[in-house]
Amino acid sequence: MQTPALTDLDSKYLVHPVSNFRDHQEKGVKILTSGDGAWLTAADGNTYLDAFAGLWCVNIGYGQQRVVDAAITQMTTLPYATGYFGFGSEPAIVLAEKLVSMTPSSLQHVYFSLGGSDAVDAAIRYITHYFNAIGKPTKKHIISLQRGYHGSSSTGAGITGLPAFHANFDVPTPQQHKISCPYLYRSEFTTGEELIAASVKELEDKVAEIGADNVAAFFCEPVVGSGGVIVPPKGWLKAIADTCKRLGILFLVDEVITGFGRTGKMFACEHEGVEPDLMTIAKGLTSGYAPMGAVLMSDEIFNGIADGPNKAAVVGHGQTYSAHPVSAAVALEVIKIYEESMLAHAQSVAPYFEAKLNACMAHPLVGDARSIGLLGAVELVADKATKRQFDPALKLNETIADIAWKHKLIFRAFGDNILGFAPALCFTESDFDALFERLQLTLDEVL
Ligand code: PLP
Repeated sequence: MQTPALTDLDSKYLVHPVSNFRDHQEKGVKILTSGDGAWLTAADGNTYLDAFAGLWCVNIGYGQQRVVDAAITQMTTLPYATGYFGFGSEPAIVLAEKLVSMTPSSLQHVYFSLGGSDAVDAAIRYITHYFNAIGKPTKKHIISLQRGYHGSSSTGAGITGLPAFHANFDVPTPQQHKISCPYLYRSEFTTGEELIAASVKELEDKVAEIGADNVAAFFCEPVVGSGGVIVPPKGWLKAIADTCKRLGILFLVDEVITGFGRTGKMFACEHEGVEPDLMTIAKGLTSGYAPMGAVLMSDEIFNGIADGPNKAAVVGHGQTYSAHPVSAAVALEVIKIYEESMLAHAQSVAPYFEAKLNACMAHPLVGDARSIGLLGAVELVADKATKRQFDPALKLNETIADIAWKHKLIFRAFGDNILGFAPALCFTESDFDALFERLQLTLDEVL
């Protein structure tokens, strides 16, 4: 049984991220108590299959004792070291070098944040600083994707292209712009090539409208995550990266979700040999065992800032917990796990996941199934031929996620018509069987 006292205290005191405050107070919290591999136990005593790796972050699965041991060892020897005033710690330095060696060769320097939002925020600040330092102070505008998600920092939330992150928060700012999301299923195009050409044209037009001298950068996720797991056509990322280069604007790839094996490569950029100017990472970096994110940047940006007119002054960006040694020690152990076996395992089970996901198309409610590696979604429709959106409000008096919960399955429902899956990379074929059996029960109940 769930402890009533805790749910009451939660309603009374705890403000939950991205929640409807009143609705959450009324419905109460589902308290999770422990985890093992792909499975979670809740305070109600039941065991649930987590098909979303927490919040697409617990890529190595729950209960990896060696990661816990790495944290304990680091906490015991040196629980904290500042990066200010010339100090540092071994795990953070080793991790920075490791990340530079793993990511595209264009990225040579690392700033550590506490998560994804502040990695994006740091990137915006470094980009601003860079263009001021190199004498191009008009380059301030940032273009991103509708439906894209880049966190909820006070400026970064404006680069995010989801209305809930804008309403009443006074973003986007006038310097933040959007182009269409590469969403083939809901586009006017029938082929990926057509969509890519249109996307490139839209970016060119947007840059021309703002003026290339005013545009600093383009930000995107290689697969739009929180906007509904939208996998762009093959070649889209490369075409956009090349366009940015041609137009003289920086290209930032936000791999907060797609990094660390999620899409079948260590980083999604690798699928298309893309060399970005900046990359943001978080989530899979520590697999959620400790908070940490990072922004990686090119030599050009680092040197531009380092050697600019203000070179005698400090670059005033930092946080007490940047490069936290315990988080860094955790990240180093997590990366070892990916490299020793888990990435290879994820690659070996991805076709099974893809086949099972595609088989969902047989269900009367499923209009689209899309995936890359262990990141996927099914999109529910009221009518497959017209792609008319399924409207849960017409049919259900509970959410699809709540129905799935009754079937002991956790996934993420976007707007209740896109069901997203980001299983831990340790999922076995039998975990996938359980996922799709429970999904079938859920969909049948919705029908
Ligand atoms: N960027 C992307 C692509 C994300 O998916 C997220 C979070 O989901 C963020 C940035 C923000 O990361 P965080 O929630 O760690 O602040």
